[in-house]
Amino acid sequence: MKVLKFGGTSVGSPKNMRAVLDLITDGDQKIVVLSAMSGTTNSLVEISNYLYKKNKYTARIITGNLEAKYKKVVAQLFSSEENKKRGLEVIRESFNTIKSFTSGNFSEVGENTILAQGELISTQLFALLMSEKGYKTKLLPALDFMLIDEDKVADTQYIRKNIKATLNEVGDADYYITQGFICKNANNEIDNLQRGGSDYTASLIGAAIEADEIQIWTDIDGFHNNDPRFVENTKKIDKLSFNEAAELAYFGAKILHPQTVLPARVSNIPVRLKNTMNPTDSGTLISADSDGQGIKAVAAKDGITALKIRSARMLNAYGFLKNVFAVFEKYQTPIDMISTSEVAVSITIDSTQNLPGIKEELTKFGTVEVDSEMSIVCIVGDIIQEERGFAPKVFRALNGIPIRMISYGGSKYNISVLVPTSNKKETLQALSDNLLNS
Ligand code: ADP
Ligand code: ASP
Ligand code: MG
Repeated sequence: MKVLKFGGTSVGSPKNMRAVLDLITDGDQKIVVLSAMSGTTNSLVEISNYLYKKNKYTARIITGNLEAKYKKVVAQLFSSEENKKRGLEVIRESFNTIKSFTSGNFSEVGENTILAQGELISTQLFALLMSEKGYKTKLLPALDFMLIDEDKVADTQYIRKNIKATLNEVGDADYYITQGFICKNANNEIDNLQRGGSDYTASLIGAAIEADEIQIWTDIDGFHNNDPRFVENTKKIDKLSFNEAAELAYFGAKILHPQTVLPARVSNIPVRLKNTMNPTDSGTLISADSDGQGIKAVAAKDGITALKIRSARMLNAYGFLKNVFAVFEKYQTPIDMISTSEVAVSITIDSTQNLPGIKEELTKFGTVEVDSEMSIVCIVGDIIQEERGFAPKVFRALNGIPIRMISYGGSKYNISVLVPTSNKKETLQALSDNLLNS
């Protein structure tokens, strides 16, 4: 069985939903993971933010506008009056849930419940459409089998066991429709896999059912060698290895949620990226094979903070790095890049939630400098093949760019540089012009 995931734009209008229906109904049994219709999760985040700020009035206005939009979708999506009524019932239930939080106190549980409504609506409407057109379809409630633990890590054993149970429970169908993004957490509350998480849902399900292939259907023809939102003349890549794709996704390529590749890599299930708007294009295939062509692509991750800890005695004093790392461990803050000199170590983090505490503790070991609004630009490929010429090529391409840190040699798949976010676009364009397309 295959697992197919369709993103926000792919299900972003009644017309697009019908196109997805035509695309998936080839008679092969499959699990279809859907995102919320495009723009919905952003609106739900906005509603939650106003509720946190106790601005219930604005939260209610945005809720009302979104509900009106969905009523139009229902009117255009279904043919029969009965299904239009059922569709409105789906909308009413979700919006009643959202409105129940527009009075009283607001917390993370409320936020996560609101954020879940986008996927709950899109999947119920789509499953209803499938049934209206006569396809044997069942809805698989993701909240019955998708689970994250106390550390917010997906519980793959639980997912494996419970998706099988859920498939048995809902009974035989040709097409199973389920929600991306949403899950339960260790407290049995509604939670999610972070923004863009539907990709991750698809690969977790793919691994759990030992799928033949995981397909990520989106609004572009595949993985490009640079970020098309910032750079001109990006090119589609036909093949990537799991390792290359994992580095690119982790370091910011928005086309894939950062964790998507991991379950597929562990279970050796190919991931294919396809364009819903141009389904005959072959897309990008991510698999265990590398096609060994040196540098493949670059990606950038924003929101990075760099900390430089300078001490009179660093490298000579064993235990220094251990003490520094212990601070990040204590504050449960992952480190992305590291570089060292005799007297200082520079470290980057992508979460500033605990920065004040981290900074205070680090000052015990030396002076601490903080640079915010930085971006990691990551250059990915099967680098060993070009070992001799690789680093000079990258540095020539980056001539004139103010580089704050460099990381090379951590794996054979990437070299990363840290630049101010204000120089990111220029850095990406320089890499396209001087390295990828030359
Ligand atoms: P979906 O809603 O289908 O999940 P996303 O917006 O999350 O779609 O991801 C697709 C978008 O990712 C593309 O439209 C493109 O703008 C952006 N993107 C960023 N980097 C890349 C890249 N390297 N290759 C392709 N698309 C990329
Ligand atoms: N709807 C969620 C988001 O917008 C998840 C996803 O689209 O993958 O982040
Ligand atoms: Mg996405």
